[in-house]
Amino acid sequence: MPTPLRRSFDYLPVVGAQTPVVGSRVKVPFGRRQVIGILVEITDTSKLSTGQLKPALECLDTEPLFSAELFNALLWASDYYKHPIGDTFATALPKLIRTGSPIKLPKVIQYQSVTDGKAINSQLARSPRQRKLVEYLKQNGAMSAAQIRQAGFDRVLLDRLEEKGLVTTHAAEHSIEELRPGPVVTASPIRPNHDQVKAIAAVKPELGFQCSLLNGVTGSGKTEVYMQVMAKVLQEGKQCLILIPEIGLTPQNLRRFEQRFNCPVVAMHSAMTDRDRLLAWRATRTGDAPIVIGTRSAIFLPMAKPGIIIVDEEHDSSFKQQDGLRYSARDFAIKRAQLENIPIILGSATPSLETLNNALDGKFQHLKLSRRAGHASAPKMSLIDMSSDPVNQGISEALSVKIKKHLQQGNQVLLFINRRGYAPMLQCDQCGWRCECNQCNASMTVHAKPPSLRCHHCEARAKIPARCPICQSEKIGTVGTGTQKLEKFLNRHYKHIPVLRIDRDSTRGREAFAQLTDKINKGEPSILLGTQMLAKGHHFPDVTLVAILDADIGLFSPDFRGQEHMIQTIVQVAGRAGRANKPGEVVIQTQYREHPGVSGLMTQSYEQCAKALLKDRQSSHMPPYTHLCLLRIDSTVAERGTQFARYCFEASKRLKQHLQQIELIGPLPAPMERKAGRYRFQLQIKSASRIQLHNFLQQLAVTLEGGKIPPQVRWSMDVDAQEMI
Ligand code: ADP
Ligand code: ZN
Ligand code: ZN
Repeated sequence: MPTPLRRSFDYLPVVGAQTPVVGSRVKVPFGRRQVIGILVEITDTSKLSTGQLKPALECLDTEPLFSAELFNALLWASDYYKHPIGDTFATALPKLIRTGSPIKLPKVIQYQSVTDGKAINSQLARSPRQRKLVEYLKQNGAMSAAQIRQAGFDRVLLDRLEEKGLVTTHAAEHSIEELRPGPVVTASPIRPNHDQVKAIAAVKPELGFQCSLLNGVTGSGKTEVYMQVMAKVLQEGKQCLILIPEIGLTPQNLRRFEQRFNCPVVAMHSAMTDRDRLLAWRATRTGDAPIVIGTRSAIFLPMAKPGIIIVDEEHDSSFKQQDGLRYSARDFAIKRAQLENIPIILGSATPSLETLNNALDGKFQHLKLSRRAGHASAPKMSLIDMSSDPVNQGISEALSVKIKKHLQQGNQVLLFINRRGYAPMLQCDQCGWRCECNQCNASMTVHAKPPSLRCHHCEARAKIPARCPICQSEKIGTVGTGTQKLEKFLNRHYKHIPVLRIDRDSTRGREAFAQLTDKINKGEPSILLGTQMLAKGHHFPDVTLVAILDADIGLFSPDFRGQEHMIQTIVQVAGRAGRANKPGEVVIQTQYREHPGVSGLMTQSYEQCAKALLKDRQSSHMPPYTHLCLLRIDSTVAERGTQFARYCFEASKRLKQHLQQIELIGPLPAPMERKAGRYRFQLQIKSASRIQLHNFLQQLAVTLEGGKIPPQVRWSMDVDAQEMI
């Protein structure tokens, strides 16, 4: 049952119905409600007496929703992450299935524009909004009313157009493409180089489960390796599942697979409608979709004929879910591949320390692509010392000279600054007051369009005050630089050069990101300015200079993964330079040029830097050399949170008496003590023994669940926690 309880519930079979199958949906009475659950086991005993048992009301499926392998993988996830089994299943299913819709959807009405330009001009001259909708439909083809609404059009507009006979309707089955005639796999236009040939040959789908790390520098042609391995799998009539960090940002990835293979490529991501998600889920489950590409939750898609799983950019933090079932899609993918007995490839230019360690230990096959593919060469790296060079809006004199030079040569420049908004802080010059969020221990970020204060940790928004609330002074100003402020500065400074800002705010809306990349791909001299989003696998052939404006943000992070993430980001962003035939240059600005975390990048490869970090982790007993679970506790009432955290600690200490290898640290307030109005605490539970850790967590979960939880207090276990804040 989709409840927060870590248990299942017993029911009698539906009266007069056939025995249902394990893994199918059953509607049952639950308290005063009727709820849909998943049948996990059929048994002839129960702790309840026959009189207490209630019969189930209805079986929704005649067949299981999952294969035995996926079903078992989900049971594993529930146990491994100590998460309620019902909610684990709920997380793995599309919403419509969860809420009882049949696997085969009824037909939906689709709307289509049947007008020509003339009719639009004559009939809709005075209805600009209806006109916009007609044009939208002309561009996008037939669509359901829900899709049209999602695109931002009012239902009324559609009705008006239907009355005027400008759109027609028809009932459509489903929108996943049919298989196309001809062979799925055609010859690759690219001749793989020596490293690629070796990597392709090393992945052997016929041998069953095998985990490989494809460790290839940026631009080394990892995607080509994926595609040639996928060709082997597709030729056997099997399916490929590819996980990527973000689909909206990398449409070119999707296109590359579509161009190479003569078959439907199904996408699965959060921006899709519930109906489209169900269709994708079904197409994967029936095998109609030979290739599926999706973000994190796509790892739960059932596959009729599983052939291979690929996790691209495996180090990316978006693969970890930060609430509910706090799973790592990468780790679940490995478990799933093992149970399905198929190969899995983890690809990255900057593998996570966990994965790298597994490869160095020989647990994963370590495949390397050490050079850029084709004619591209590795970019030249240099440091700029910001403590000695004059700096204007985060740009040093030396960098400014370089920017001008690259633009003059007709190339593009990419500036990386990991702070969106106008400025990270608002401050009173008179008394030093800083504007903090009422709900969080964090400064409010200043935004320019529209002028406002926003908290990046919760949804809070506020007006920019005219005077200081403490001393009433009108001298309040912004501190620091965000992407919007930098954009304004660059626009003033480089009058005839387009400045393209790429962050969460500038890429909201359906087509915004595609429009930006179209502009970039025109290849005209321009300045690209953006956040983390720029680090994610883009291919900008005309960028020759990449500058990291402030490399130091990760150096003193409270999170033990801070430095790892910092070097990954720097190496990934740097990898955007000189990806085609033009040589590239990377400049890193820092205040701490002596810090090994920064200087190491100048002389060493990512792998060498990562190995140094691994040594630190080993000596400080941190993952991957030990296993870590964060017990997270939060409450709207600080005192209750503190008390419950204390109680959890005492309970843990008692349980620990029989388990030598458990280490407890805490309970401590979280580095971000208050977030979205909740006071947060954490207890670190560490063990070098995975088995002991899990025995311990199992017992602790039972203890905490059996005890009383004060009102307004929540607790959760974050096994293999990724973020410590
Ligand atoms: P990665 O994913 O490792 O960053 P990509 O797969 O995007 O790299 O490849 C970078 C570019 O190199 C692409 O344009 C790709 O078509 C090209 N490429 C890949 N392999 C080869 C090859 N063997 N010869 C020539 N070009 C190649
Ligand atoms: Zn003041
Ligand atoms: Zn906040």
